[in-house]
Amino acid sequence: MSAKLTPAVFLDRDGTIIEDRGHLRSPSEVVFFPDTVRALQRLHAHFRLFVVTHQRGIADGIVSSAEVARVNEHTVAELRRRGVVITEVYCCPHRRDEGCVCIKPKPYFLEEAARRYGLDLARSFVVGDHPHDVVLADNAGATGIYVLTGHGAKHRAELPECKAVVPGIREAADWILACREWRLRENDDPGLMTRAADILRHGGVVAFPTETVYGLGAAAFDEKAVARIFEVKRRPRFDPLIVHVSAPEQLPLLVEEVPAAAQALIDRFWPGPLTLVLPRTSAVPDLVTAGLPTVAVRMPRHPVALELIDRAGTPVAAPSANPFGHTSPTTAQHVHDQLAGKVDLVFDGGPCSVGVESTIVSLVSAAPVLLRPGGLSVEDIEAVIGPLGKALRHKRGAAPAPGMLDRHYAPRTPLKLLDRGEAPGAHVCGRVGLLASQAAPCPSSFAAVEVLSANGDLREAAANLFGAMRRLDARGLDCIVAEPVPDSGLGRAINDRLRRSAAPARGD
Ligand SMILES: [Zn+2]
Repeated sequence: MSAKLTPAVFLDRDGTIIEDRGHLRSPSEVVFFPDTVRALQRLHAHFRLFVVTHQRGIADGIVSSAEVARVNEHTVAELRRRGVVITEVYCCPHRRDEGCVCIKPKPYFLEEAARRYGLDLARSFVVGDHPHDVVLADNAGATGIYVLTGHGAKHRAELPECKAVVPGIREAADWILACREWRLRENDDPGLMTRAADILRHGGVVAFPTETVYGLGAAAFDEKAVARIFEVKRRPRFDPLIVHVSAPEQLPLLVEEVPAAAQALIDRFWPGPLTLVLPRTSAVPDLVTAGLPTVAVRMPRHPVALELIDRAGTPVAAPSANPFGHTSPTTAQHVHDQLAGKVDLVFDGGPCSVGVESTIVSLVSAAPVLLRPGGLSVEDIEAVIGPLGKALRHKRGAAPAPGMLDRHYAPRTPLKLLDRGEAPGAHVCGRVGLLASQAAPCPSSFAAVEVLSANGDLREAAANLFGAMRRLDARGLDCIVAEPVPDSGLGRAINDRLRRSAAPARGD
């Protein structure tokens, strides 16, 4: 690859940078999308820009080539006035049955541009609102970005395998610039992505960019890895984590069913800043869901996040990559400032484009409920599935799934939490189970014993906590006594969970 070759962005015209209003005859019919100029200004700083448009109306005799040329000239002139240079406009005037060389998705125009302007097509992008634009990118060895403006939403089902599906030109620019940042990092640090994925596969914790904020990720089915997230964040409580997937096809691993309303939201807004709360499968660790019978899932709209999940070969559980109570990080520098040395790798993918957390909607009951406002507006969601109910704030507060806190897993068996250093034997009457923090002092006096971590490893204790409580609960005991763990690091979250399990029945 020669250093002199330039990357380019090839833009479809109608439905991508200007509104699709049928066959345009005159400049007065050109209406730019509100985001077009700013998006192209951002791209123009790093890429050569081209327009590639198919104007079949010429072959059909609906518009003349002179009319199309005037519309194109006007479009280019308007952009130039705002500082955006379109190097060339390529226009195919043919019908498909004419068998021309230039019709999409044939890569003819892209290859011609590459020869003429010295382009590196492997580092170039095609943005369009028709599946042909994405296939065109594939055929030219470039990367396709599919926008949902124009005909995009209507033809999405015909789209071949493509994760870069974005609401419009602005998010297309975000995606392209994120890919550029990623390539720059890989140039500085070859094998970065492979290493990050290996770390996740082997139980490590990686901070990575999404379109909302930087996430602190671990393999979602690895309880000890998930425990490390809480340790690094110094959370005093186990809250449900959002599980990130790289495709909706991964959902059956995580959720029992996808209701019609959820499917409608997925079809419209994934990838994107929308988290869905759905009934979980038994494969999802309790530590990920905080013992809830539900799991929060989303597909992030960021090339690094999606590639990382794909390469790790597992959904990734991730809260925001900041210590508890600190502001959410929207750059890798924020993550370094707050968590330097505590995570195995910080993947710098540039600044996050949305910058606020995802919107969370629960689809567990018949009526969908808004659990947290965020990066996708309630109006957009309601336009697809109708009015959202509001979550009731629970007085014990502040779980990301408020209103469902009373469904957290708590043992049916009465649980007594011992004071630190208190001997468990004093409570032995009837069939008693012991939830020991470390090795049990006198195991024979208990009907059942569960040890959270024999050597006092808090990460292991956190990973075992929910399972140990469930196993004791299944033994039909008269009561469970639980030893607290040291009240530091992850121990605070473990003790918080034990205290809440021991609390009097709800209604207190
Ligand atoms: Zn043609």
